[in-house]
Amino acid sequence: MMKFKSLGLSLIIVFLLSGKLFSQQTVKRDPNISELVNEVSASNLEQLIKKLVSFQTRHTLSDTLSKTTGIGAARSWIKSEFEKYGQASNGRLQVSYDTFTQAADGRRITSPVVLKNVIAILPGTDPADKRMLLVSGHYDSRVTDVMNIKDFAPGANDDASGTAAILEMCRVLSKQKFSCTLVFVAMVGEEQGLYGATNLAKRAKEEGWNVHLLMNNDIVGNSYGMETDLKDNKSVRVFSEGVSASETPAQAAARQSAGTENDGKARQAARYIKEVAERYVDQLEVKLIYRRDRYLRGGDHTPFSQQGFAAVRITEMNEDFNRQHQDVRTENGFKYGDLPEYVDYNYLQKVTRMNLSVMANLGLSTQEPENVVVLTAGLTNKTALKWEAPKGKAPAGYYVLMRETTSPFWEKKFFVKENSATLPYSKDNYFFGVQSVDENGHESLVVIPRSGR
Ligand SMILES: [Zn+2]
Repeated sequence: MMKFKSLGLSLIIVFLLSGKLFSQQTVKRDPNISELVNEVSASNLEQLIKKLVSFQTRHTLSDTLSKTTGIGAARSWIKSEFEKYGQASNGRLQVSYDTFTQAADGRRITSPVVLKNVIAILPGTDPADKRMLLVSGHYDSRVTDVMNIKDFAPGANDDASGTAAILEMCRVLSKQKFSCTLVFVAMVGEEQGLYGATNLAKRAKEEGWNVHLLMNNDIVGNSYGMETDLKDNKSVRVFSEGVSASETPAQAAARQSAGTENDGKARQAARYIKEVAERYVDQLEVKLIYRRDRYLRGGDHTPFSQQGFAAVRITEMNEDFNRQHQDVRTENGFKYGDLPEYVDYNYLQKVTRMNLSVMANLGLSTQEPENVVVLTAGLTNKTALKWEAPKGKAPAGYYVLMRETTSPFWEKKFFVKENSATLPYSKDNYFFGVQSVDENGHESLVVIPRSGR
């Protein structure tokens, strides 16, 4: 564990000039991003969660007519909250319902029902930058019986915590300008079968959204381990699949040939999240979990993976299952239920800051280099890479990233200004990637080269 941490911290940049390695430095924080990170407030998060809990139940099939209780009141409040932040964005934030009719499934949806995700879109400032970065949480809740639409279902941690995180991020970020488009989504229907996310992921595919990342925040506010009685407020998990759920046979053949089963889109994004979040958030270690999700559980990132987008799940390190999907009750003196008093707001603040730092760093970055190729025409013990400049704003340069084939994380970064690099390391013995970087150190996502001439 500590070994990974020290690897992450020791990541060095080497400047590559005329084939000679001549200097190195560690990556620094952008003070503007640090300021935004610090704006995320634990007390705001607490207020947001308590407000969400006050609707009594946010069950997907609960009442939509009352102004004070049920999912209808909850979604309308979330929308009004986004709209409030929108006023501070000079009208740039576009707030809407993503409305659809969910068919009965003979399981957790008994008859066709109109459902609404709540979405806030902050358009990017560069028309040539079509990237879209999404963060989500689900606002529906449940108790022990997933079909119980009446009883108190506070869902403070699952998943008012994720919903509060995206609201607070939207409050801070919508006052700023980013090169690409940021999207904040409160999803519906998660507990009934990931219906809100499934519908939105399909829509994103059909409408050609250029989704570069979805960070799904689900159960992000508890730091207490049920069995261990240990508090862990210093770690957070990022679940990512290695091989994309949407992989085609041609992609599978390329993966098998290059051995890139550990370099799928979601896995790459997870590495990026770890590097950036640990740069900006103190006392937080990002644990990469190399799997899609936990046993017996699913989440809203998976429908996005299935549509071919890079999507990960962010979840607390420890879980307290006595406080998830439970009827609120006292049994033998023990209080069950997903109540606001069991949320660790300082921990949730860190997780929200982590998300925000990634959105900001990526939102400010130049786009990824295109047509990244590792030259495999001849047999040589060196590695030659070439690529084309990204669309939109020109980067200050590029990082060529390198790691041992057995290493979970990138270990070296070579800075180059040109659109090619030749390194004195064999392409057979290491993995490589390329990302663009601007003059303030904001990096794009990493592109894994394809083999070519
Ligand atoms: Zn959940």
